[in-house]
Amino acid sequence: MLHNRPVANTPWQQRIRRAEKLAAQYPFAVEILGFYQHVARFQEDVYGRIESGGAGVSPAVLQDSNASNPFARQLLANFPQFLAVVEKHGPERVAQVARELRSAPDGVWSELLDAVWFEVDEPCASPEEFLAFALLQPYAEFVRSHFQLQLEGYTQALCPLCNRKPAMGMLRQQGDGGRRSLVCGFCMMEWEFRRVVCPGCGEENHAKLPVYTAETIPHIRVECCDSCKTYIKSIDLTKNGLADPLVDELAAVPLSLWAQEHGYAKLQPNLLGM
Ligand SMILES: [Zn+2]
Ligand SMILES: [Zn+2]
Repeated sequence: MLHNRPVANTPWQQRIRRAEKLAAQYPFAVEILGFYQHVARFQEDVYGRIESGGAGVSPAVLQDSNASNPFARQLLANFPQFLAVVEKHGPERVAQVARELRSAPDGVWSELLDAVWFEVDEPCASPEEFLAFALLQPYAEFVRSHFQLQLEGYTQALCPLCNRKPAMGMLRQQGDGGRRSLVCGFCMMEWEFRRVVCPGCGEENHAKLPVYTAETIPHIRVECCDSCKTYIKSIDLTKNGLADPLVDELAAVPLSLWAQEHGYAKLQPNLLGM
């Protein structure tokens, strides 16, 4: 094998191990993390295939809707296999959608993949779109991991690479407090963002930006905005340095339910559409 690095060091292996650990710790997350592990294993395969044929990729494929995706055909070829995984391991409602999508007429898949790849302003809404999103995500991550973007002075709330809204936040230790960054749920770009500003509407009034935590999972913060009524979950690495933004965010199901019950809508859904 050419890439002779330890398997456990791929981002997917790390996420799968983190999911196993959290599932053992949090009964409420067992189901979602079980499904996630199947999705992640498939994504890892997709990533490996992209990597072995990945010459000539440019960030433009994420930024320019006229740029053609050199892996479109390959991703399309992976779709039925992915749908089979979801049929087998997904929650009943999603499995049903995967079953129907598998027998969809010609052209439906490529239309769906194109829409999810290029329509960055509208977050995914239907289960079909989330399935396409999960299949495309390793490709976006591949593009991101192969290019160094100059982020100095970047202060916006949208992903500097693919222009999507952030799916989660992170707090990292800095001096006596924590420095906040935002993370894209598609290409997994992380960029710094001011701590007391709503990434949804720019609200800066501290009194309108309540933060909630729960004792059951104390390293996850629900950062709400009373102006635009959105929320984003942030992973506090100062409280748990082993946390993974994607997996820990998925696991914190009760916090999402709590936020929704209190009238907040999620700024951007996660990989599994929650
Ligand atoms: Zn992005
Ligand atoms: Zn807001």
